[in-house]
Amino acid sequence: MRVFLKFLFLFILVGAFWFGWQYSVKDNLGKSLKTAHFSDVLDSRQISAWVENLRKKINNQTVFKVFPVNPCKKTIYYDLGNIDPRYGLNRDKILSLLEKAEQPWEEEGKYNLFEYRPGADFKINFIFDDRQRRTLALKNLDQTLNTLKSERDRQIEKFKSRNRKYNELVARYKKKLAHFQAELKKYNKKVEYWRKQGGAPPEEYKKLSKEYKKLQKEKASLEDDVEEINGLAKQINKTIRKEKTIVKKYNDQVLTYKTKFGVVKRFEQGKYTGKEINIYEFKNDADLLLTLIHEFGHTLGLKHVEDPKAVMYYLKDKQDLNNIHLTESDKKALRDLCQLSK
Ligand SMILES: [Zn+2]
Repeated sequence: MRVFLKFLFLFILVGAFWFGWQYSVKDNLGKSLKTAHFSDVLDSRQISAWVENLRKKINNQTVFKVFPVNPCKKTIYYDLGNIDPRYGLNRDKILSLLEKAEQPWEEEGKYNLFEYRPGADFKINFIFDDRQRRTLALKNLDQTLNTLKSERDRQIEKFKSRNRKYNELVARYKKKLAHFQAELKKYNKKVEYWRKQGGAPPEEYKKLSKEYKKLQKEKASLEDDVEEINGLAKQINKTIRKEKTIVKKYNDQVLTYKTKFGVVKRFEQGKYTGKEINIYEFKNDADLLLTLIHEFGHTLGLKHVEDPKAVMYYLKDKQDLNNIHLTESDKKALRDLCQLSK
């Protein structure tokens, strides 16, 4: 009986524990689920307030003020876009010039600022329109003017040597003429003398005839000289007329060009639009390189600088095309933009 009671007590005890544990698990589960649900509602309220706050901050640009984007700490990837075949440029040539155009900025900024990457969104285009037509016309004009100038120089040289010869001939002629006149005077005097005497003795007559023949010969020679001098004078006049025609042609060419195209030197050879660089005109590699460096400068965010020798000057003016480089004002503009120390 005592053993039975012991077992019964144990049974009740174990049963009570089991029941109690089951209940507490269920209760805790129910409670924790409820709590979880409740705090979820709270969290989403907090989140929307936080989002609203962030939205306000962004609207006030606080975020951008705190973290300004340094244009010299990012690489601009570019690709070739439309290359008008009328430029007669191949892609390799353009890419090698673009690489050269990157260098001055990258050297100064000490960063890989530009890089060619096929498929990049930022495009470099070569657009052929009136601007390049004008540049080509100017190139032609330049060649024509050079040809005319050397033609004119040749005419001037001709004129000089012919004129020298002319002066020599005239001087010689005058000397000869003076001699002839003196001889003729002497001869006439003798003839007059013997005429007054009623005739010359045979010996004297022979002498006079000889002198007469000599004078005739000299006269003919003088006539030849005159012909030669006049011929030369004609040639000289022809040279002068030719030179005048060349000068007129030269002026006409310049005038025609000016009427058609005017004088434009602005940097509209290229343009940075914000998403691409368009090239419109250039007359040689150096000219194109200067334009590419200038437009790359705008791509970085640089504005024009007040220095006629600078790459970032608004005109193509006093920049040295034989040695294109950033001037101190270009470098300062980059340092200011990129917060670089000197
Ligand atoms: Zn510009």
